[in-house]
Amino acid sequence: PSASANLKDKSDRATNEQVLDPRTRLILFKMIGRELIHEVNGCVSTGKEANVYHALTPDLKHLALKIYKTSILVFKDRDKYVTGEYRFRRGYSRKNPRKMVRLWAEKEMRNLKRLVSAGIRCPDPVEVRENVLVMTFLGDKEGWAAPRLKDAELTITESLDLYVELVLAVRKMFHQCKLVHADLSEYNILFHEGHLWIIDVSQSVEHDHPSAFDFLRKDLSNVEEFFGRLGVHCLGLRRVFEFVITENLSCSSEGLSEEDILRKRMEEALSDENTAAENSKESAAHEDSIFKQSYIPRSLNELYDPERDVAVVTRGEGAKLIYADTIGLIESPAAEVREEPTGQTSLPPVVRFSDDKGTG
Ligand code: ADP
Ligand code: MG
Repeated sequence: PSASANLKDKSDRATNEQVLDPRTRLILFKMIGRELIHEVNGCVSTGKEANVYHALTPDLKHLALKIYKTSILVFKDRDKYVTGEYRFRRGYSRKNPRKMVRLWAEKEMRNLKRLVSAGIRCPDPVEVRENVLVMTFLGDKEGWAAPRLKDAELTITESLDLYVELVLAVRKMFHQCKLVHADLSEYNILFHEGHLWIIDVSQSVEHDHPSAFDFLRKDLSNVEEFFGRLGVHCLGLRRVFEFVITENLSCSSEGLSEEDILRKRMEEALSDENTAAENSKESAAHEDSIFKQSYIPRSLNELYDPERDVAVVTRGEGAKLIYADTIGLIESPAAEVREEPTGQTSLPPVVRFSDDKGTG
């Protein structure tokens, strides 16, 4: 079903070929000299910050070369990812674009390695030399790149499975790789061999980055919107966020896999939504619009009203705070929260709203 709508034909590729600066060309020549690559073909993609080229190894294997642009203007708006990132504490020089770009390329390589170790589908990084990242090529035998999720033609059944696959991958990325993608969307996911492959992780942040939850919420909101448009009954932003960050999912002790739990919760969300429509109660959409504006603290220091939260925890209702286990207020979200005395499935209350600030 994967029509390669985003692909250019070979002649188009050639005309799109960007002029490389002498230093980058030297890096490529050295790679050819070492027989890492045999030839570099045209551009697969030209982007704001990088171009991606297709290359062949001497034994005709396909590689992708992501070549970061070294112009000083390009990386200006990347500060939000760098602030609070300990890996950039030293050596991030805004005045030296080559050095800066090298750090981004190296960071993408390290992040890809973390994904590979966790078993998440993504390009396998081969090596990085200054602004050139070499990785495995996702595409067919003739060298056509796999389509972006945005351009993939999917049936509704496929879409549902891919939504589940993606949410599980984001959860794994958070807990096992300790990363939040921070630019996740249908543009940075490729549809290849019937699965989703995550790419473009140079800006991904540590899960304890001060804005990690904001990035994660945005990532998940893109996922919800995209699959929602395809007709998938998604979990809803607030619930999917909770599913991703909760360390120990309730029921996992009962032998249910994470996938089982996710699918079960999707069914629950759907039936909740139907009930809500009947009773004209607060709908999931409304719940999400509130959650989008709500403030999510990343650490104990950021709580607006620690005393109130501690009181909640003391009453044994700690798991009602969506963030409690993440910041160490409680050890793990207890299974008890999910079942109210009424037998209805309940969600922890939304953390705190921006206009709640200072009151309480
Ligand atoms: P950018 O920073 O320009 O968005 P990306 O890493 O997202 O860079 O790559 C841009 C495009 O290049 C992707 O949308 C995809 O089409 C293609 N691409 C990137 N990496 C690979 C790869 N390993 N295999 C095949 N195509 C790739
Ligand atoms: Mg991209």
